Amino acid sequence: MIIKNVKIFQEDHAFHAGVIYLQDGMIEHIQPESELDGAEPIPQEGEQVIDGRGCYAIPGMIDLHFHGCMGSDVCDATEEALHTIAKYEASIGVTAISPATMTLSGDELVHVLENAASYKKKMAGAADAAYEAELVGINMEGPFISKAKKGAQDERNIIPCDVELFYRFQRAADGLVKFIGIAPEEPGAIPFVDAVKDEVSVSLAHTNSDYEHAMEAFSHGANHAVHLYNAMPPFTHRAPGVVGAVADNPHVMAEMICDGVHIHPSVVRATFAMLGKERMILISDSMRAAGMPDGRYTLGGLDVDVKGNRAILVSDGALAGSVTTLPDCMRTVVQKMGLPLETAVAAATENPARSLGIYDQQGSLTAGKKANVVLLDEDLKLVAVVKDGVQIA
Ligand SMILES: [Zn+2]
Repeated sequence: MIIKNVKIFQEDHAFHAGVIYLQDGMIEHIQPESELDGAEPIPQEGEQVIDGRGCYAIPGMIDLHFHGCMGSDVCDATEEALHTIAKYEASIGVTAISPATMTLSGDELVHVLENAASYKKKMAGAADAAYEAELVGINMEGPFISKAKKGAQDERNIIPCDVELFYRFQRAADGLVKFIGIAPEEPGAIPFVDAVKDEVSVSLAHTNSDYEHAMEAFSHGANHAVHLYNAMPPFTHRAPGVVGAVADNPHVMAEMICDGVHIHPSVVRATFAMLGKERMILISDSMRAAGMPDGRYTLGGLDVDVKGNRAILVSDGALAGSVTTLPDCMRTVVQKMGLPLETAVAAATENPARSLGIYDQQGSLTAGKKANVVLLDEDLKLVAVVKDGVQIA
């Protein structure tokens, strides 16, 4: 396949006019427009050519924290739910996913993870694999979190850190668990970090931690923060909390829900400036109502009312995930929050790929990487999605 007349987002974090050549599901070559000297690229016989007509070409996006969409949730623990989620995400340009589990009981989580592992096995080499986002990981948002900052997580299932249980999860998932969320102030949290940090990224999630406890966890090897600002103490001048500790640890990457509901635009801008754009990961944190009409849904077994772009727990009014998508968050930070497009694209592609440890295979438009390309027009509306070298939208 040839994708011509596009502005290509490249590893220098700038757009360059050129042509993308795809072969056997991989990026074969990127040709700068200057090399063409006004000539048209010549397709081989039968080769598909997409004329991008000046569109932006960006890598397939990667959402490493969301729960579901289109009425399905990863915690439904069915193969159909994962097909529904992965098809929808691919159709909107999210070509790799690491969905998040809620705080369920240990046995329920094992079941969810076994289902994810068996789906992954089934999709490897499947004829229609290009039409579904690739399952590259699972982000466990609990059960080792804090009741004080439970947010929309079911308090009855919150338990202390348990190394053995974590390894039971990882075996059930066949190694798919990429992030395990913990509250570092809870008993046993620091020995837990020591025990699992080489197996999984330890993230601070749903925590009431102060600055000191968060610093300790990061110094022991925790390296990720789940939806920064949400479900943690605020960042204030005498009590900088988890946010301050993230800022002080250059090896830590931070998720942010930039749907315009969860975090004020000024705080989004300030945080990109404070942490540096290399450490920021846009996530949707969407629940099953994303892509669906307003109404009553469930998240982690709790009832949630969805109206417009807000999802609220029926029991106490807490925000319960989002109903946005990753491409919408990317558009929001550019069009409503004033961040540069290049910064937003990297935070939805390269940075999550690095955080997941898959940047050698995807997350940039580079020869030798997977042929996952998304075309956006000047208004950042979706024009086309190519996954594994196949045009799927
Ligand atoms: Zn979540």
